[in-house]
Amino acid sequence: MIQKIDLRSDTVTKPTPAMLDAMFAAPVGDDVYGEDPTINALEEKAAALFGMEAGLFCPSGTMTNQIAIKVHTAPLTEVICDISAHIHQYEGGGIAFNSAASTALVHGERGKMTPQQVEAHIRPLDNIHFPETKLVALENTCNKGGGAFYTLAEIAAIYEVCKRHNLALHLDGARVFNALAASGDQASDYGLYFDSISICLSKGLGAPVGSVLLGSKDFIKRARRIRKVLGGGMRQAGYLAAACMYALDNHAERLQDDHRKAKELEQVLLQSDYVESVLPVETNIVIFKLNNRYTDAAFVQALAQQNILASSFGPQMIRFVTHLDVTDDMQQNLVQVLQSLNEQEVPA
Ligand SMILES: *Cc1c(COP(=O)(O)O)cnc(C)c1O
Repeated sequence: MIQKIDLRSDTVTKPTPAMLDAMFAAPVGDDVYGEDPTINALEEKAAALFGMEAGLFCPSGTMTNQIAIKVHTAPLTEVICDISAHIHQYEGGGIAFNSAASTALVHGERGKMTPQQVEAHIRPLDNIHFPETKLVALENTCNKGGGAFYTLAEIAAIYEVCKRHNLALHLDGARVFNALAASGDQASDYGLYFDSISICLSKGLGAPVGSVLLGSKDFIKRARRIRKVLGGGMRQAGYLAAACMYALDNHAERLQDDHRKAKELEQVLLQSDYVESVLPVETNIVIFKLNNRYTDAAFVQALAQQNILASSFGPQMIRFVTHLDVTDDMQQNLVQVLQSLNEQEVPA
């Protein structure tokens, strides 16, 4: 039996020994009093990196997104996002629960909206039948879109629509470092276009916990109040922020390696007789559709028997995510197992 390979998500990574050392060595204080030097340093560093004024350390990307939406909206207003967006699909209905706002859902291409689609979903003003459009939210990369990414030019075009209609623009950047690695865009340019950005250090960058919400000083001041009321005011959480800082400093460059592995899996799957189609692989996510040889549940089971964990992602759909803890040896084994599932022998 091969060593366990967990492709369910890039959240499954464990801290490296060097990351643990950084955590143990972190100076900490009570962050609710604003006295945790490691959290303060992380917030400042992340804000500067993305060309924003201030940051707010939170336990999860769901919390950073939900706080941002709460600050940007009011009850009876609306958020425009793609129908596959994490904020709509995977945050438990939090937009309705936390913000009493609705969502206008765009049927984009692999999770990406065009400026025209965004503009078409803006509600007419001065008509009391409609909610009032307040916010546009992008996701980069798009999880359900198979890791597709927006380029800076595409973001700028959507920003122009927002500016013309006086709408705020939020980024769910759970995997923004993958988008940056793939596009070659500069993180600091993001600050030109977004009113708020959520980044996750616990995805591809490999920290055990932690997201940072970025925005103007005034925005973050209001966000800090919402974090407290949600129970997200943490105390000596600098131990966690130290892991995030380490991840930011040491694990962004290597994302190219995850992308290369995902691309190789795409090639293997395209040649496999149990696969109907694969979403084009651009970053570290591989989403593919099985033909009738397997159901998604049976395929996940077949992989599990070989010590490989994958996610069912809807009827006949499977998702693999590559990450820091998938070694080159594991990748080799993975390719062999995927090839061995073919009915016809694959020539060596
Ligand atoms: C993982 C993820 C989040 C945040 O998830 P948490 O588990 O709450 O940290 C947000 N958006 C996207 C697209 C994600 O993949």
